[in-house]
Amino acid sequence: MLEIDGLTVAYGGNTALKDVSLSVERGTIACLLGSNGAGKSTLMNTIAGLQTPGRGRIMVDGTDVAQWTPRRRVRHGVALVPEGRQLFGDLTIEENIRLGGYTRRGRFDDELRDIYRMFPRLAERRRQLCKSLSGGEQQMVAISRALMAKPRLLLLDEPSLGLAPVLIRDVMQLVRDINAQGITVFLVEQNAHLALRISDHAFVLEKGRIVKSAAARDLMQDKELTAAYLGTA
Ligand code: ATP
Repeated sequence: MLEIDGLTVAYGGNTALKDVSLSVERGTIACLLGSNGAGKSTLMNTIAGLQTPGRGRIMVDGTDVAQWTPRRRVRHGVALVPEGRQLFGDLTIEENIRLGGYTRRGRFDDELRDIYRMFPRLAERRRQLCKSLSGGEQQMVAISRALMAKPRLLLLDEPSLGLAPVLIRDVMQLVRDINAQGITVFLVEQNAHLALRISDHAFVLEKGRIVKSAAARDLMQDKELTAAYLGTA
């Protein structure tokens, strides 16, 4: 589904990603682990088209999208749930969710119905302003907005950031449910234990380079790595 080859991204003179190559199989969940500043968000944003690579290929379903606009990538099936959610606080839940359909025509009533079936709590509050929602509710809106684009590849940048443990579990279950609908998921997650539990494959990024690529279940057994990146929990 996703094949990245030799990707290099720099901010001015500072290289954030160096020769990154990886692939994510169709229909799977892959997670990207790494310490703060490793380049995880840069990679997600570059796949979505918010950041331009210096070099490298980003193949989505066999087509190199590396030079495409974000809008064209959304139409090709790539949607991003950005770090920090990036909602419009003064718009309602429904207005925020509808924005996710901006690359497509129509009123999206069917899509909205599906989303509200998945998130009854959002349906009840559809006219509420997003700034008055809890962190968990805001994350649901951000994910719903991305689903409005009918993605085949969903990129999730730290969806559990700032959420209580019980809500983090809900978000992880939600990621599983989304994947069960046939959507390939590429996830950045600070809670590595939970991320590995729901993922098929995992990558570790360190100072802009992929230093590990392994089946998630193998990475859980990797003592050196769990000590370095996963804490002791
Ligand atoms: P975190 O977990 O803290 O969000 P991350 O792994 O997502 O970290 P990035 O946010 O991708 O890491 O940052 C990678 C490197 O690029 C860091 O050194 C960061 O300071 C730098 N960087 C990120 N965004 C910018 C920017 N807009 N301009 C300049 N430098 C940036």
